Amino acid sequence: MVDFDYNIVEEAAKQTYIKALTDLPPDVRQALHRAYERESQPAAKEIFQAMFKAIEIADNKKTLVCQDTGLPIYIMKVGGDFPWNGAEIKKRLVEGASRATLEFPFRGSSTHILTRINPQNSVGHGLPVIYWDFVEGSDTLEMLMIPKGSGSENMSTMKMFIPADGKAALKKFVLDAYIASGSNPCPPGIIGVGIGGTADLVMRLAKEAIARPVGQRSEDPEIAEMEVELEEAINATGIGPMGLGGDISTLAVHIEWAYTHITQNPVAVNTQCWPARRARATIHPDGKVEYGF
Ligand code: SF4
Repeated sequence: MVDFDYNIVEEAAKQTYIKALTDLPPDVRQALHRAYERESQPAAKEIFQAMFKAIEIADNKKTLVCQDTGLPIYIMKVGGDFPWNGAEIKKRLVEGASRATLEFPFRGSSTHILTRINPQNSVGHGLPVIYWDFVEGSDTLEMLMIPKGSGSENMSTMKMFIPADGKAALKKFVLDAYIASGSNPCPPGIIGVGIGGTADLVMRLAKEAIARPVGQRSEDPEIAEMEVELEEAINATGIGPMGLGGDISTLAVHIEWAYTHITQNPVAVNTQCWPARRARATIHPDGKVEYGF
């Protein structure tokens, strides 16, 4: 194994958290502008203008797009040829998230479940959330950082369906979940839907779905068709930007799926709010780091 400096991982964990909070991905910016053009309601258009103002202030002052700094989530893809020390990488992700909070500085949103004491560093027992996957034939470490605010995360829901319920029941569940969430997830954002796997995997799939670039369709044509149908149905609700009425209630519906048990069909919904924050770092074995979204 090459002698790799894991300080680089810690710095990337810090920088991606800050980047995600202060710099919106280009696809999100473009999707918001497209939504503004499509929106016909004057009051809804004004809400889009307020969003554009918040982005402009964040760009000019290098500050946060939204005050809810969320809980840190890192989706890691480890190349089979990357110098892998999992325990060390995990330790560096914790430290990087903590340092981002303390050194930027911004509000730490993590808290103890009973005492409600906030350590003010965004981490704590069980945090940050870290997902691992491994990629054959790659020598990079891919880090995708998502800060998840509570307005959208609190609207998460899942249900264990059975195969006899059929596709229509799945779509109705997603639509009902979105209607029930109303203005809470600060629409219009991305609706992440997970289908299949087990009770825990299905929510992870929904979380990975919100991390896709806006409108990137599923590679499976039937799933892609379902994404379009759900987008049209959700926009037809008239919930609109910030839940105050309008033509655009979602920027996109993304579905991630997995095979499941022959007698079950779990579905999960994880909503992302309008800033759809995320940031990415690609770390090479020589220590080079590329930042993006
Ligand atoms: S749901 Fe999103 S946009 Fe709304 S307050 Fe929370 S982080 Fe901010």
